[in-house]
Amino acid sequence: MANKLRLEGKVAVITGGASGIGEATARLFVEHGAHVVIADIQDELALQVVSSIGSDNVCYRRCDVTDEKQVDETVAFAVQKYGTLDIMFSNAGILGPSGSLLEMDMAVFDRTMAVNTRGAALAVKHAAKVMVAKKIRGSIICTASVESILAGAASLAYIASKHAVLGVVKAAARELGQHGIRVNCVSPFGVATPMVCKSFGADAADIEAIICGNANLKGVSLTTMHIAEAALFLASDESAYISAHNLAIDGGLSSIMKINVN
Ligand code: NAD
Repeated sequence: MANKLRLEGKVAVITGGASGIGEATARLFVEHGAHVVIADIQDELALQVVSSIGSDNVCYRRCDVTDEKQVDETVAFAVQKYGTLDIMFSNAGILGPSGSLLEMDMAVFDRTMAVNTRGAALAVKHAAKVMVAKKIRGSIICTASVESILAGAASLAYIASKHAVLGVVKAAARELGQHGIRVNCVSPFGVATPMVCKSFGADAADIEAIICGNANLKGVSLTTMHIAEAALFLASDESAYISAHNLAIDGGLSSIMKINVN
């Protein structure tokens, strides 16, 4: 248990909370005194996460973020169960297959945008509706990616969807500022989560080696906990005057152009 509870009594919904970054964040938020609703589509895995956290302050609600009714009902569920909603961590996402845009399957493009961008817009919308109505000065955080800043190794669809998440965050921060609601995003570089391993058909050790090889900052590997810590900062009062910010968790990669002078 951390010494200082940075989210004591706060209520959070975490989409994509059954795995990877969302799971790590759910664990950290509960450790810091928050009540957490894990919203995901992997029922069995999510229930295992809830049971391994082993606290009355966490529960699971099935929610496909592409379905507006389910997002609306998940927010209502959190309010009904825990009394309010202070934090929305819109984190659910898919990587989808990589490959050339010349062979781009537009159904895959639509699906990627539906989960990553439309899903984020729905999470922001329904969290904001409750926060505005209840006069809650909440914090909304989306998981974007370094691919919201630059074009890395992912597909056109993924890169476009994450650039658009940044647009969702900025537009929402502009409108919700008058209500005291902050909207930010975290933009990680690579972590060998199930999403990445599945997509590249490789195991975690191989993926991590590729990520470390391409990283700017050496001597440390990015973990889901580093991203959870950044989400905790943006969720807590320590970031009370930060809004519309894209917090890159990339060891400087997205700000640096490497030039070989030899
Ligand atoms: P992950 O696969 O471990 O977790 C993603 C979670 O989202 C899964 O539990 C999955 O079931 C859930 N999800 C997928 N579609 C959903 C839907 N329609 N409705 C509800 N939940 C759904 O992967 P992760 O790496 O932890 O990904 C979390 C977020 O981080 C994603 O938005 C991803 O784009 C982003 N991200 C990941 C990396 C990385 O390298 N892992 C880098 C930058 C950004």
